[in-house]
Amino acid sequence: MLPQFDNTEVAFKYRSNKELKRARFLFASMGSPALTKIGMALTKVAIDWHLPVKGIIRSTIFEQFCGGETMEEAAGTAALIGQYGVGVILDYGVEGKEGEAEFDKAVPEFIKAINYAASQKNIPFISVKVTGFARFALLEKIHSKAALSPDEHAEWQRVYNRINEICAAAKHAGTMVLIDAEESWIQQPVDDLTDAMMELYNTDKVFIFNTFQMYRHDRLAYLKKSLDLAISKGYLLGAKLVRGAYMEKERNRAAEKGYESPIQPDKASSDRDYDAAVRYCLERLDNLALFIGTHNEKSCLEAARYMQEHNILADHPRVYFSQLFGMSDNISFNLAHHKYHVAKYLPYGPVQDVLPYLMRRAQENTSVAGQTGRELSLINQEMQRRRL
Ligand SMILES: Cc1cc2nc3c(=O)[nH]c(=O)nc-3n(C[C@H](O)[C@H](O)[C@H](O)COP(=O)(O)OP(=O)(O)OC[C@H]3O[C@@H](n4cnc5c(N)ncnc54)[C@H](O)[C@@H]3O)c2cc1C
Repeated sequence: MLPQFDNTEVAFKYRSNKELKRARFLFASMGSPALTKIGMALTKVAIDWHLPVKGIIRSTIFEQFCGGETMEEAAGTAALIGQYGVGVILDYGVEGKEGEAEFDKAVPEFIKAINYAASQKNIPFISVKVTGFARFALLEKIHSKAALSPDEHAEWQRVYNRINEICAAAKHAGTMVLIDAEESWIQQPVDDLTDAMMELYNTDKVFIFNTFQMYRHDRLAYLKKSLDLAISKGYLLGAKLVRGAYMEKERNRAAEKGYESPIQPDKASSDRDYDAAVRYCLERLDNLALFIGTHNEKSCLEAARYMQEHNILADHPRVYFSQLFGMSDNISFNLAHHKYHVAKYLPYGPVQDVLPYLMRRAQENTSVAGQTGRELSLINQEMQRRRL
């Protein structure tokens, strides 16, 4: 039987009445672009001026979208949703910190997460952003194919060493690593580094996944090229598929600098390539593992339907579905209820350090047509069912 995504009893079982009311307030507020814009601007000013707003942020948007300020707090959230068969991807969500000392400091933090994940049944993954270990301008320079100075070569070698240390620890512990995709103008070194890690560690099982953003018009072809490369070099591909989170930034930069936008002409084209990529991967599970990262009900349903029609078990060890914590619980918990592998991205870190992530969630829930409305109507449906 195919999963139904409108079963709100299953979707929100882990949420208390108070938490549901908070979620309703949040999604209703984010539904207003003006309110979101003002809220985001005020938060930035308040943080810059060191005003005491941490408590308010923590008890509202932070608690909706994050697991806690420390890994230990996130572990509590992971254990809670684990009771319903939903897994977790530990995501040390600190962003925008630059400097060699910060990059070095992040490595043991990730290894701690890897080892903790390995000790828990429902934490199969951690996620990594290469910009957490490398200077953005260095990535940009490598992407543009400009020649590096000897110092920059040494700097890039240190980035490689940090990521390699994390991936080696992950394979040793048995935890999988998802390497996020970021802006298109730094993506080539991220892809190359991830390919190198897959070649080292995906020899008999997939431990390392690269991310393919299907809002880019060249990524379906690139996914196929990546699989060809993996096959020719004798390793398994880890394919995490998303639509992409930086659309406005990408389009603005392309317009400003006068190059062709890497983004698809319209939403329908992103949807078409996303579903085609899912199908392409499902047809090739002998050579890859697939991670379907989306809040799109139709994409999830089509994947589930394809699996059913082609006798691919719901809990096939090489297929995962994933949504972000705090969003689309109707998809995650209903898929898990039908035995599909599901894991939610669970960011954690000090409130002020995860703000860029929270801002993206606020923006996404404002700009993604229909998403906020869908969340709100499901929450309302559940509140009615609970007679709140
Ligand atoms: C588990 C998980 C991991 C993620 N990891 C990453 C990551 O590593 N890197 C990253 O960039 N993002 C990542 N994302 C975010 C993701 O890329 C999307 O921004 C987000 O999930 C919304 O897309 P959707 O498929 O869920 O939903 P939908 O509502 O179906 O799609 C919205 C998306 O469609 C695309 N879109 C919207 N309008 C247009 C248009 N006019 N033209 C072309 N395309 C359009 C945009 O990508 C937009 O975000 C992740 C998401 C999840 C759930």
